[in-house]
Amino acid sequence: MNVKKINCVRATIPVAAAATRVQAPRMRLALHATAPDGASLHRCTACARMLPVTHFYASHTKYRLHRCKRCATRAQRAYMAARRTSPYFRMLCTLRRHAGRSEHARRFQEADVAAVVRAFHGRSALSDKPAKRLVLVRWRPSAPLHPGNAVPLTSREAAAHRAVRCVEDAYPAAAVARTDTRLRQTQTA
Ligand SMILES: [Zn+2]
Repeated sequence: MNVKKINCVRATIPVAAAATRVQAPRMRLALHATAPDGASLHRCTACARMLPVTHFYASHTKYRLHRCKRCATRAQRAYMAARRTSPYFRMLCTLRRHAGRSEHARRFQEADVAAVVRAFHGRSALSDKPAKRLVLVRWRPSAPLHPGNAVPLTSREAAAHRAVRCVEDAYPAAAVARTDTRLRQTQTA
């Protein structure tokens, strides 16, 4: 048994199993069929069952039926579970909770969180400490929330920062200048 493993998109599977999957000939299955009672059946592209059209979610934008309702629900649950465990998604939830129901908070997406964290190399903007659980906060409270005005901080720094009214008064000039430079790089990147 080959114990070496490779990372696939969905799961980690053994190399031997991955090779067999690649070499296996692709079976061409009919997408449509007619039931003995004359009802039209469609093949689910995920579970390969032949099902009546009522087992699929209707869509105005799709010309073909893909996954059945059961498979679509499972895929959606798996997607949401994966999102919940994503650190960027957790940071986005915390950011939105503190930012309130503003248009700017709604526009802030998981990809924006990732861009800001990458710009600061996964470290706190103020202490430059690598933190396991970073929190994203609005840098200047007077400016709207957008990727050019959000910084990652440790949870303790973030709690103190939320009470700050003016960053120039609260932090050393060097720290403010360094953070502003990094934020400008986020905007140009
Ligand atoms: Zn299915």
